Amino acid sequence: MSTGASSGPTVALLGTGIMGAGMATNIATAGLPLTVWNRDRSKAEPLAAAGARIAGSPADAVRGADVVVAMLWDAPSVADVMAQAAPGLRPGAVWLQTSTVGVDGTQRLADLAATLGVVYLDAPVLGTKKPAEDGALVVLGSGPDDARDVVAPVLGAIAARTLWVGPAGAGSRLKLVVNAWVVTVVEGIAECLALADGLGLDPALFLEAVKGGAMDAPYVGLKARSMLAGDFTPSFTLAGAAKDAGLVVDAATTAGVDVGVLRAVRDHLARALDAGHGDLDLGATYLTHRRTGD
Ligand code: NAP
Repeated sequence: MSTGASSGPTVALLGTGIMGAGMATNIATAGLPLTVWNRDRSKAEPLAAAGARIAGSPADAVRGADVVVAMLWDAPSVADVMAQAAPGLRPGAVWLQTSTVGVDGTQRLADLAATLGVVYLDAPVLGTKKPAEDGALVVLGSGPDDARDVVAPVLGAIAARTLWVGPAGAGSRLKLVVNAWVVTVVEGIAECLALADGLGLDPALFLEAVKGGAMDAPYVGLKARSMLAGDFTPSFTLAGAAKDAGLVVDAATTAGVDVGVLRAVRDHLARALDAGHGDLDLGATYLTHRRTGD
């Protein structure tokens, strides 16, 4: 492990988007030596204020790092950036892969890690922009036990808790299960609000009807209120949800599981993407459920 002012690992974080920026801030604030890189450098630069060094390339970012955190978009973008990072990687460094990449994607990245001579931890996260900023993510960790101590200070900075779920790949499998639930719930809320409206009711009555009962959930109120207010400030983008719904259906199909509801959700999100709502929050799926003419 590199030594310096901090007794923790030296960290590189690749990808300072919605999630990566919050994670990087918390890693730097925890006192770990951190270098960040982002394709669009302007999104990385604000992290200098938290103490991060800004690198000009992935290889420069990871040079000498004990832990390389990847928080990019999908398996192809992660593979591409890690290939660019290859010349700077320290043999035996731990790659903490936190992006949502699906089942086939994480296998592809594990194979790449073996080629690059680094230890692969498959560790997607639960939680959106705010938990990332608050250091309150839930990490679904998977991979070799002996790499856990090295990444513990990083996980301590970004997460409220880490659930270790088995060999590398198990984390991504569980992530798909949870995101299957997220997209199903959000589509359900959007359809119920649109249905209420279509039946001539004030859609807010749906919330009033379920409030405080067994059918209520904090997430229902949160998402429904945003939909009704027309506030689609991105926390989890619709583009991200559409990507993940595709990964869920692909994984289910390979596993021979019939997921008819999730196929419909995936197709609806694809239509919402085509309608130009990709950069909005997932709640913007409501816009394509509303009656024509609204
Ligand atoms: P985001 O804000 O769109 O960030 C995506 C990041 O990936 C940016 O740094 C972007 O760089 C980079 N990127 C995309 N394509 C690239 C490419 N071809 N080459 C290099 N860099 C590329 O998305 P996010 O919400 O932070 O999500 C990041 C990951 O976390 C995704 O896998 C997502 O599914 C997952 N996730 C998101 C949430 C959430 O609620 N937002 C929750 C859990 C997990 P640029 O800035 O240059 O475009």
